Amino acid sequence: MARLPGLGPRSARRAVLWLVKRRESDLPRLLEALATVQERLVECETCGNVDTMNPCHICADPRRDERSLCVVEEVSDLWALDRSKLFPGRYHVLGGRLSALDGVGPEDLAIGSLLARIDKGGIDEIVLAMNATLEGQTTAHYIAERLEERPVRVTQLAHGLPVGGELDYMDEGTLAQALRARRPVG
Ligand SMILES: [Zn+2]
Repeated sequence: MARLPGLGPRSARRAVLWLVKRRESDLPRLLEALATVQERLVECETCGNVDTMNPCHICADPRRDERSLCVVEEVSDLWALDRSKLFPGRYHVLGGRLSALDGVGPEDLAIGSLLARIDKGGIDEIVLAMNATLEGQTTAHYIAERLEERPVRVTQLAHGLPVGGELDYMDEGTLAQALRARRPVG
């Protein structure tokens, strides 16, 4: 449990004790839910979302605007944005961000598949929704450059986002504001 992100040894101990106390009631339900996760979760081959179906619910939803594509670093960012219910389009998950320090280059991210999606046509707008961190913004600039010669409008979340801000930790109002006030890149 202590290996789970954001938990740490102390919170992990508390969570384990909580489960031990509820080993007759909540623990079996948790185990069942985790088994379902292991059995049924798949990665969407189109956007990189994690779902029980491939293509995922978002990619398969005909009510979604297929002309608008929002690019995010992680699945958690996709979920955070989608909770705000303000983005009508579809998503593309990069699977990380460029980082010289961690040795993450463009070929380690789902940038090739993003360009391929765009080159297939039918997409007008790319919304770069990287985190407001140095690495997030470096990634956004890199992608914006790669998109320069493609016939798409490239916008970026407004920097109502606090510096260092990660989408997943943002309340829905702030996220919605950043999305509404998105602006052209460059
Ligand atoms: Zn998908």
